[in-house]
Amino acid sequence: MIRVQIRDLIGKPGTLREQAISHTLESDLGTDVIAVRSGDPLEIELRLESVHEGILATAEVSAIAKGECSRCLEQVEFEVEADFQELYHYQPEGEDDLPVELDAIELEQPLIDAVVLSLPIKPLCSESCGGICAGCGERLEEDEAHDHQGPVDPRFDALKDFGS
Ligand SMILES: [Zn+2]
Ligand SMILES: [Zn+2]
Repeated sequence: MIRVQIRDLIGKPGTLREQAISHTLESDLGTDVIAVRSGDPLEIELRLESVHEGILATAEVSAIAKGECSRCLEQVEFEVEADFQELYHYQPEGEDDLPVELDAIELEQPLIDAVVLSLPIKPLCSESCGGICAGCGERLEEDEAHDHQGPVDPRFDALKDFGS
C-alpha cells in the first residue's frame, strides 16, 4: 500500500503538487531472478495534477534491484529507473480505471507494473559474461581460452625444462 493524500487537489482543476516519497518495500518486488528486495527503499518523485475527471499522477521511480547473473550466477545489482503516468478517476467507468478513493490514491499497482517492466528478463553481470565452464564450474568471464582439451600453455613447458 502506497496511499497518497490528495484532499487539497480534489475539484481544483489546474492545481499542481509535487511530492517526494521514500517507500520501504515489505516484500520483494520483481521476478524470480531479479527484484528490488524487501526492506530496500523505493524513491518516488511524484507529480500530482488536478484535472476535471480526477487526479493525474506522474511518477519517476528509482531503486536498486538485486539478483544473479543468468549465465554465471554471480550476484548483480542494477539501478532501476521506471516511470508511469496514471489518471485516477472520480467516477471510474470500468475495471481498468483507477479510482480516487475518498481523498487518496493508491500507487502500488502501477508502480509494481512499471518496476517489473523495467527489470532485465535475463540479468547479466556483464554483456561479455561467458557463463560457467561445464567441466570445472569456473566462471569464464574474460577467459575465452579456457579449454580442458586444448594444448598446454607452452610457458609451462619452459618452466618444466628449467626445473630439470
Ligand atoms: Zn555473469
Ligand atoms: Zn573448466
